[in-house]
Amino acid sequence: MGSPLSRAKGLTVPSFAKVNLGLEVLGTREDGYHELRTLFQSIDLHDRITLRPLPRGIVIECDHPGVPRDETNLAWRAAESLKRRGGVSAGVAIRIDKRIPIAGGLGGGSSNAAAVLVALNRVWRLGLGPDDLHRLARRLGADVPFFLVGGTALGLARGDEVYPLRRQVKAQVVLVDPGRPVSTAAVFARVDAGLTHRENSYTIFRFVSRDLEGVEAFPLLANDLEQAALEEAPDLARTVGRIRGSLVREGALLAALSGSGSSFFGMFDDVQRARRAHAALESQGFAVHRCRTLSLDQYRGAWARALGYNSGRSWR
Ligand code: ATP
Repeated sequence: MGSPLSRAKGLTVPSFAKVNLGLEVLGTREDGYHELRTLFQSIDLHDRITLRPLPRGIVIECDHPGVPRDETNLAWRAAESLKRRGGVSAGVAIRIDKRIPIAGGLGGGSSNAAAVLVALNRVWRLGLGPDDLHRLARRLGADVPFFLVGGTALGLARGDEVYPLRRQVKAQVVLVDPGRPVSTAAVFARVDAGLTHRENSYTIFRFVSRDLEGVEAFPLLANDLEQAALEEAPDLARTVGRIRGSLVREGALLAALSGSGSSFFGMFDDVQRARRAHAALESQGFAVHRCRTLSLDQYRGAWARALGYNSGRSWR
């Protein structure tokens, strides 16, 4: 906690998590990354990031012991890249109140990086537009550009070409953290080794086309990383079987692993069903979050309010 004075000068912004409603791995690229098609969805589970001015340097504070405080923290790297790009000599203290489970396929670090880019662009009055911010974001990581956009969006290439969907998904989300981290690199290595049978199924394009017709098409979606993640962690496979069973029993429209895991989620169009699924999973001892999807407008609105775009408020 800072002094009342520094708190008054601080600026707090939300940093929202995402889930992948679907994810297709199409192959490896010449640059070593994977060619993906994914459907990103923002959810209202979020970290809080508070920025305070410092005369120089970048300092990270975080209440979660698993989050690095050094220059490997993505929020640190985001601040550094913006400092360089804008020729800024001032420093910043970045406090992260971590609520998003880490290494869970929920994009917490990438989301923190995007929030820092947008907020510091504002408070340092750099005036960088979407193209400039996107360029910095994709250098920080393939998921970072999505977090500059938010809502329901299609991710192509490394996942860093982001296209918002016309119709934004609105649902209750029951998110389960099985507490068993899985290495993203190991999961992709299994996919590359071909242990998981894949084919170019175009399920995401079919989902998007049906979306244009106003038809819900969740049953089409799948996550190509799920089988590989469960092969990588056979103990997780048993746990996921129980989680999926509870979500499906309560009527989930979609029950899937997010990214490379290990967070597993269910989407519901009915709040009572979501409540029942939450209760059922909690009674089995799981760490469960009940949250909602955020549309593009809701996502943007939350940032605009935090950054005081309508009130002219900033830390100076
Ligand atoms: P990815 O799939 O990109 O590896 P993820 O979404 O599964 O990420 P994150 O919560 O971003 O998971 O954490 C992945 C790792 O990144 C953590 O184990 C941590 O060491 C590191 N990390 C760096 N910066 C952050 C940050 N700001 N918040 C959380 N983790 C961070």
